[in-house]
Amino acid sequence: IKWTEGRGWHDAELVPYAPLSIDPANMTLHYAQTIFEGLKAYKQPDGTVATFRPQANAERFQASARRMAMPELPTELFIAACDALIQQDRAWVPDSGEASLYLRPFMFASEVGLGVRPANEFLFMVIASPAGAYFPGGVKPVSVWLSEEYVRAVKGGTGAAKTGGNYAASLVAQAQAAEHGCDQVVWLDAVEHRWIEEMGGMNLYFVYGDRIVTPELTGSLLPGITRDSLLTIARDLGYTAEEGRISTEDWKRDNENGTLTEVFACGTAAVITPVGSVKSERANWTQGDGQPGEVTMRLRKALLDLQTGRSADTHGWMHPLG
Ligand code: PMP
Repeated sequence: IKWTEGRGWHDAELVPYAPLSIDPANMTLHYAQTIFEGLKAYKQPDGTVATFRPQANAERFQASARRMAMPELPTELFIAACDALIQQDRAWVPDSGEASLYLRPFMFASEVGLGVRPANEFLFMVIASPAGAYFPGGVKPVSVWLSEEYVRAVKGGTGAAKTGGNYAASLVAQAQAAEHGCDQVVWLDAVEHRWIEEMGGMNLYFVYGDRIVTPELTGSLLPGITRDSLLTIARDLGYTAEEGRISTEDWKRDNENGTLTEVFACGTAAVITPVGSVKSERANWTQGDGQPGEVTMRLRKALLDLQTGRSADTHGWMHPLG
């Protein structure tokens, strides 16, 4: 779907996947006005296909657009575009289990020009790709690197938007994590390098027995849809679920004294993944016994059961395509 100043959204079309031809002076290549989303379509037990909370993705896309001086795509158009592509690619929606059809809606400036200013032409597109189970051999805890050198986002910055530059800026820290033998980066706040924010592509939860805590939305972390859903699902299951502040010292101390029983990360890609060990320049510890915890696995099952239609959709989160 195209957007042009004065005309708004127009010319929606469904076309076969193919390369785009880009002018060397395309404004996105220089000034990075680009945003995206990620969501999954799951086959349901009755053979129909459904997406999980696409309205929340549409709303986050609109928030990202506002932050990046881009036009907002109405929710109906966002969902209709995803639905049309899923219908077309129905044969590619995997049959069962945790496999899904992953959808990547995105928007970028399509105007050609060299001046730094908001573009006046944009292109919104959706691509789809079948995605297998994230852990085909069973859920495996990840090791994390606490990045004290780099920051992902600052107050007033673009951290709460799903924009390409945030991910570009994170790659060097991800490489550093790998050099230290870790799977993922955990980002800390930009001021004190102390408060836990989020992982590279997932939000974090800290399990204190039957109370689970996730870092509050400070404006410098992405408001994950999985994170938000788990606040509700956990309460449905009888846990206390809260937003709060957790420092690196809290993490280490509470793990040592046994009050912090589990830590997990959550996001569309992995659904829920346990954190098994933590490393930084100054410390190195195993989270709990390093194995997936009971609360983590229970929440993981509850969320996946809902997304794959094996439990009742009591919150009206599933969007069926028929
Ligand atoms: N944080 C970041 C930086 C992400 O890229 C993602 C993935 N979209 C998340 C958190 C998790 O968000 P969601 O649950 O909406 O996938």
